[in-house]
Amino acid sequence: MFERIDLHTHSSCSDGLLSPAELIAAASARRVQLLALTDHDTVSGCDLARRLCEPLGLRFIAGAELTASWREREIHIIGLKLDVTDSQLQCHTEQLQRQRHARVEAIGARLTHTGLPGAALVAPALTGAAAPTRAHVARALVAAGAAADVQDAFDRWLNRGRPAYVATRWPALEATVQCIGLAGGLAVLAHPHRYRLSNTALRELCHEFKTAGGAGIEVSLAGMGPNDAANAASLARRFELCGSIGSDFHEPGLPWRPLGRFAKLPEGVTPITTRLGLDMPSSHLPLSS
Ligand code: AMP
Ligand code: MN
Ligand code: MN
Ligand code: MN
Repeated sequence: MFERIDLHTHSSCSDGLLSPAELIAAASARRVQLLALTDHDTVSGCDLARRLCEPLGLRFIAGAELTASWREREIHIIGLKLDVTDSQLQCHTEQLQRQRHARVEAIGARLTHTGLPGAALVAPALTGAAAPTRAHVARALVAAGAAADVQDAFDRWLNRGRPAYVATRWPALEATVQCIGLAGGLAVLAHPHRYRLSNTALRELCHEFKTAGGAGIEVSLAGMGPNDAANAASLARRFELCGSIGSDFHEPGLPWRPLGRFAKLPEGVTPITTRLGLDMPSSHLPLSS
């Protein structure tokens, strides 16, 4: 069995601060035994990450955190154990990346409109990562002195209702879950506690997610309070979704969001590792799959 696992992490292929190589080194140093790389809307770091994990005896799972929509809201669906060569998955992520590029360019135009150097502020996002995000722009705003920190950059400029907000229509939940399934992966509903949905709406989301072919839900995530975790566990039991564990790691040096979590799930929740075919003593496992 794995004692320390992390099935939700980001690298510099999206908005993480560590390169895939640095991320794997950090995971290894923290004695993580099972690691998924789940960048926003790209699997571009997965091949290298897998190759780097092998000699370390670190079990690797190719993943992605796909941006999707449900009832006009943005939700995040993690695909685990993806075949990164799948052509439909490639198509899907390329479409998302085009959307992200267009969105960040539009954010740049809005920043320019407010008198800030928009083109320069979005340049790092557009050139530095496969999947450009608002987090890149937020960091540039901080570096330029236009915001005190990343949170302030979102609050001041980038959040809905703020001057540089740009809305986007992400692919639907159903299409996203289907794409993950066709690429041989398992779909996991990310961070259910962050959607600001009523309990009823959250149950409807889980029901539709399960009906669409969803396999799991995050029940143990860094930053989840005890109530959030209990809610997520009860959703997992009610809708027969497996439980997933992760950190949503983006950068080192945040003590409340370290890489790797203790692989213990609440009563009555089936671990997603069972569905991944990994629930056996680690000494019996081949190093990669
Ligand atoms: P995007 O996916 O382009 O909308 O960018 C959002 C990313 O920014 C998320 O994946 C988070 O990692 C990061 N982020 C950091 N702080 C915030 C915040 N206050 N609101 C939204 N996203 C944030
Ligand atoms: Mn992010
Ligand atoms: Mn997310
Ligand atoms: Mn994430």
